[in-house]
Amino acid sequence: MTTVATPAELEQLDATDPLAPVRERFTLPDGVIYLDGNSLGALPRATAERLSQVVHAEWGRDLITSWNANGWFTAPQRVGGKIAALVGAAPHEVLVADSTSVNLFKAIVAALALRPGRRTVLSEPGNFPTDLYMIESALRTLGAGYRLHLVERTALADAMDDDTALVLLTHVHYKTAEQFDMAAITQAAHRVGALTCWDLSHSAGAVPVDLRAATADFAVGCGYKYLNGGPGAPAFLFVAERHQDAAQSPLGGWMGHAQPFAFDDAYAPAPGITRFACGTPPILSLAALECGVDELLAVDRAALFAKGRSLVALFAERVLAGTAADGVSLVGPPPDHPRGSHVSFAHAHAYEIVQALIARGVIGDFRAPDVMRFGITPLYLGWGDVARAADAVVEVVLSGAWRDPRFAARQAVT
Ligand SMILES: *Cc1c(COP(=O)(O)O)cnc(C)c1O
Repeated sequence: MTTVATPAELEQLDATDPLAPVRERFTLPDGVIYLDGNSLGALPRATAERLSQVVHAEWGRDLITSWNANGWFTAPQRVGGKIAALVGAAPHEVLVADSTSVNLFKAIVAALALRPGRRTVLSEPGNFPTDLYMIESALRTLGAGYRLHLVERTALADAMDDDTALVLLTHVHYKTAEQFDMAAITQAAHRVGALTCWDLSHSAGAVPVDLRAATADFAVGCGYKYLNGGPGAPAFLFVAERHQDAAQSPLGGWMGHAQPFAFDDAYAPAPGITRFACGTPPILSLAALECGVDELLAVDRAALFAKGRSLVALFAERVLAGTAADGVSLVGPPPDHPRGSHVSFAHAHAYEIVQALIARGVIGDFRAPDVMRFGITPLYLGWGDVARAADAVVEVVLSGAWRDPRFAARQAVT
């Protein structure tokens, strides 16, 4: 793939793409090139119909019998088992529950209890904010003695020692798309006796992930990004099988009880991953998430990820070729390095450029202070789309169209 791909070459790539028909499985408005599937995945066509069925037939008609008759009670494990296939876990190692933030809290406290006497949680500066906030929250709850140690990623392995209880990192960085070598970091942590927790929010459904091969201990991730589960979709939690008997959730609600319908006064954890459930699962959101995950399970993921890499390369190279002289620079690794499926560029007026692009139907997002970020989702994007989007970035930058004052008004969500 080169930046000089002609319209005919792009057309040929799209025409011969075996994944091209998958786009028809999503609802996308005409005139929009959606480059924000890493923040809110697009709507699968199947989702609206499935939700209507869950609302009308299951909730409306079958009412409470649906917990048994329509598989509501086991949905967190069932959908977790499907996500497991996307992250290299066994089906019984993944549960859908809560938000990513809450799952981080559960994993952090559970991991620290498995390493008594060790007081340090290691992470990197610039990690996704909620990850750092949830470490702080967990440590505050646990009381004195614990500390969060932030170390630049190149120095992480050296910073691990016999006080390190947990290494908590985001596998693919939300801004730069830089990707950690999960196996190498996990092995380094294990060498000093520490555990790992990986945040897969920008990895699951975007890049190959193999938690088992990496011998990861805990992992969490988002349901509404590349998994296309819908706004506020529940998140997922992975606990390696070898930890499941000993690990305890700090939020031991009744859905994580061994016998929730025994209504015992005393808490007894359920066997396996189920003990990490807390309250009643959000069935409508879970049904939507399952539709999104099913779309990924239905395609050849090796081919999907290869297409994603090709689209990333085309987009990054085409934007840079057109704008490098105008203050736009690539943030994060080049396309051929280990990386996630979004591409970020820095520019002093990134906010305004993103707004001007949205006005043209090219939807990306802005991440403070100066990053424009574009999610490349090969399920519903082709080479022609990505080339047109790159050309729009170039046009907005070179023309100065972003200078229109209406593009400077800041909104709450960027
Ligand atoms: C999007 C994202 C989250 C989101 O957390 P929520 O609790 O679901 O809002 C967490 N971590 C990372 C790395 C993310 O990119």
